[in-house]
Amino acid sequence: MDKTLEGVNMMMTSTDRFKCPPGIKVFNKIADFRQWRRSLLLDKKTLGYVPTMGALHQGHLSLVAAARKRCDHVALTVFVNPAQFAPTEDLGTYPRTLQKDLDLLASLGQGVASAVLVPQVEEMYPAGIELDVTKQKGTFVEVLGISNQLEGTTRPNFFRGVATVVSKFLNIVQPEEVFFGQKDIQQCFVIRDMIRDLHFPTKMHICPTVREESGLALSSRNVYLTPSQKEHALVLSRSLKHMESLYRAGTRDATTLVQAGTKLIQDERKKVQEDGEDWEIKLDYVSINSGKDLSELKGDIPSEDGCVISMAVYVGDTRLIDNLCLDVELAD
Ligand code: AMP
Repeated sequence: MDKTLEGVNMMMTSTDRFKCPPGIKVFNKIADFRQWRRSLLLDKKTLGYVPTMGALHQGHLSLVAAARKRCDHVALTVFVNPAQFAPTEDLGTYPRTLQKDLDLLASLGQGVASAVLVPQVEEMYPAGIELDVTKQKGTFVEVLGISNQLEGTTRPNFFRGVATVVSKFLNIVQPEEVFFGQKDIQQCFVIRDMIRDLHFPTKMHICPTVREESGLALSSRNVYLTPSQKEHALVLSRSLKHMESLYRAGTRDATTLVQAGTKLIQDERKKVQEDGEDWEIKLDYVSINSGKDLSELKGDIPSEDGCVISMAVYVGDTRLIDNLCLDVELAD
């Protein structure tokens, strides 16, 4: 195991160091979680599942609430999954706030979240896990045709890491229903295909993106932003809304819409430069993709599938993503 991973694992997860709020069971070991899960089954209770990397916010809590509406019990996993981080990314600094996460879950009231599994990296990856994919050993899951565009361009092994860890967790948790956020729309498409292709007996739900009043999509990575960066980060939701209003007014040419969104980002980039800030806004992509299979659209947007407009923008060192789905039927 490389040095980053050793450190990360130490930072993670002895639950001994945390105060478990009443009514929420916190498990470190997969076998202990499974025993609890089996007791629900024997009791004929259903289980809804919310996978997370922790640093919980209202976006995560909205998934928990949606799960509790449909299922007798809700379990979360909190696991910062090394396999979805490139060696250059923020695995070492990703916020880890387990006590605060547990307290937030408790604030939803007793009987909303029943259990949290916080597994060790070694137990999740028995063959070990290297960030350098050429050195990895063991079993990995790839969902072809949907993992290499959009986020997959800048993060080529990201969805392999996500699909692998979610399939491990679906095997461990064995939920009747699983809940994901539209905020990570490509992840939703990838997991939807994986559940279908691997015949997981789990119903998937995609829940709406929770935003600050300003429009900024909630994200665990927002804590990296300075107040001024947070202000300028509003350009993501603003330009998505602008593209949406052009679409609603009848513009159906994907390239025209992408250009309109891009212009707002570039204007904001100039503003930051003119303000003499020592950081930059940099556009990674603005894209319009089919609401059916996320293939990139260039000309006319076909009316039958709708479309996903999405973008990734660096605000300083922080890479933010956001999207809107226009006339797309998301699984519910
Ligand atoms: P993460 O902890 O970032 O891996 O996210 C765990 C789950 O929460 C994923 O299904 C995300 O899409 C979802 N999520 C993250 N941010 C939001 C948000 N602002 N609104 C709704 N769901 C979100």
